[in-house]
Amino acid sequence: MTPPSLALALAPAPGPAAPRRRVATREQVLMFRLDPRRAVGEDDICCLVCGQILRQLTNTHLRAHGITADEYKRGFGYNRRRPLMCGTLWRLYAVRAVRVGLASRIRSRPILTKPELRRRGGTRAISLEERLTRRDAQSRGRGALVVDLDPIVGD
Ligand SMILES: [Zn+2]
Repeated sequence: MTPPSLALALAPAPGPAAPRRRVATREQVLMFRLDPRRAVGEDDICCLVCGQILRQLTNTHLRAHGITADEYKRGFGYNRRRPLMCGTLWRLYAVRAVRVGLASRIRSRPILTKPELRRRGGTRAISLEERLTRRDAQSRGRGALVVDLDPIVGD
């Protein structure tokens, strides 16, 4: 058996010509708004404005809501650099970026030429996503300690 090729992965998904619209329930959207990380899955991402379930939230989609990607991320508490796409698509783009040497084609690096950007370096707002991730990491640490201290219930 051969591994799936990138070309195959890039091909449009099989199915009917007109893709059917999937929409999350109101309860799901409200739950996702409490923890926006849950709106981003392996195979889809839920728009927290309209509840549509898509592979990525394009600028075109967000423009229909009258907002930019930055405003969307800030508004729902995502990290600034969070890609607004499902995990599968993100990895696909990451592999492609490495293959075509995308990083070497970036000519301008403002952080190197604009000292005012460097001065702002350490100051940034902590997003809801980051706060939730830190909290999870802390409780995982505590959980491991509890497991270590628990007596082993044997047979
Ligand atoms: Zn939407």
